[in-house]
Amino acid sequence: MKAMVLERPKSPLVLKDVPIPEPGPGEILLEVLVCGICRTDLHVVDGELPNPKPNLIPGHEVIGIVRKRGPGATKFSIGERVGVPWLGKTCGQCKFCSSGRENLCDQPEFTGYTRDGGYAEWIKADERFCFPIPSLYTDEEAAPLLCAGLIGFRSYKHAEKSDRIGFYGFGAAAHILIQIANYQKKAIYAFSKPGDIESQNFSLSLGAVWSGDSTTLPPVPLDVAIIFAPVGSLVPQALRAIEKGGTVVCAGIYMSDIPSFPYKILWEERKIVSVANLSRKDGEEFFKIASQLKIQTQVQTFPLSEANNALQRLREGKVQGALALIPNSMQCNSN
Ligand SMILES: [Zn+2]
Ligand SMILES: [Zn+2]
Repeated sequence: MKAMVLERPKSPLVLKDVPIPEPGPGEILLEVLVCGICRTDLHVVDGELPNPKPNLIPGHEVIGIVRKRGPGATKFSIGERVGVPWLGKTCGQCKFCSSGRENLCDQPEFTGYTRDGGYAEWIKADERFCFPIPSLYTDEEAAPLLCAGLIGFRSYKHAEKSDRIGFYGFGAAAHILIQIANYQKKAIYAFSKPGDIESQNFSLSLGAVWSGDSTTLPPVPLDVAIIFAPVGSLVPQALRAIEKGGTVVCAGIYMSDIPSFPYKILWEERKIVSVANLSRKDGEEFFKIASQLKIQTQVQTFPLSEANNALQRLREGKVQGALALIPNSMQCNSN
């Protein structure tokens, strides 16, 4: 099969012919229809996340069709459309797994990082960690739900009881979550890089009540600020934007160093938390909402062989909405 392979971190992916994987016990083999591109893929390719699997195939927003089931795999039927997310497997036994916090498992496996992902024509996955995809989404529309949507949703859960929410960085995750926020009648304040008028207009077009530069303060204090951009200097800026008792949520897997800041902007029970990975419960809750509310995702697609170009666009921040790869461009043409 054709796959884009990371031979060495900090080098471009290489298009290669590799064997189609064989599903083991409890695993399914999927023909990949679409694989979304997430910022985390960039952190893996650029060597900012340690110890990826050797000769890794990246990609953890995978939409595929079940073509084969390994021994004992019964959750999905042949021909069913399934999504493979970032959390690929957990041990099921550590203190985190046994206390409802499998996102923090001591021995986790991550799709497109420590297991092969979806920048390929085929992928095998542990069926227990896959989700059925609601029929109201096309393959392209569904791809960004798998991580931008799902892990974004885990961050957004910190804002469940809040009315005024700030989003720092308005990319794939924010463009999905703002629609859930609108549905729940919450006000979104969207911050972007100074001068990034395109992102500011994009957020307003999706219903943000205010948008502006990340260096400015919102017109009213916020209850929660969620930082999607991997930029540590946003943490003190977001602390200044929240009300007492408020929370700053760091949503990414990677962030540059946070500069020191005066204690008084943390005082009065403001909190800084990070969000790691996802649990299957997050997925169930998220897809329940996503099947009641049709989330409009804006997805720009590329053929598999163009993965390096697509990643470069993301690296340069030249993206409104989300990006995805289509392994079989014949399908791309027929859609
Ligand atoms: Zn565990
Ligand atoms: Zn991701």
